[in-house]
Amino acid sequence: MVSDEASSLASAWLRDAARPELDAALRAVFDEASREVDERRPICLAGGHCCRFAEYGHDLFVTGLETAWFLLRAGRPPERRDRSLPILASGACPWLDGRLCGARSARPLGCRTFFCDPRHAAWSTGLLERLHARIRSMHEEFGVVYRYGEWLRMLSLFADAGSTRRGTS
Ligand code: SF4
Repeated sequence: MVSDEASSLASAWLRDAARPELDAALRAVFDEASREVDERRPICLAGGHCCRFAEYGHDLFVTGLETAWFLLRAGRPPERRDRSLPILASGACPWLDGRLCGARSARPLGCRTFFCDPRHAAWSTGLLERLHARIRSMHEEFGVVYRYGEWLRMLSLFADAGSTRRGTS
């Protein structure tokens, strides 16, 4: 069961994520992340481990606005055998498609800046913090409510609120 507040937050974020000026601002942040990652050339073995949070033992944190932006653009998650499981119980991102991301162009900043190779931890953490600060400041600039939370919980909030258009529950 989701509170009225959570439901109205999810609806407001979906409206905000569709605003052209916010879309452009988020895309600029993601483009900057891509440019810096391209320059550093970290090796990603595309094992999909980092998207299986329970198994890998880490969490992904996102803003509500990024989650809404993702949901508007990601398309349906790939079919899974455990599709009947609630998002939280699955312990993995619903968009993990085998070993690959099934929504690469829409993925949030934390996915774009995480690399499991510890040699890349220092610069990638710095990049995440710097670009997250830009996303946070967008909330003030555009009058958007700021919330930062764990990815599967944030997706669940939208699903429970009936605000996803892609059937993530
Ligand atoms: S959006 Fe893509 S990269 Fe991010 S956790 Fe989900 S499957 Fe992994």
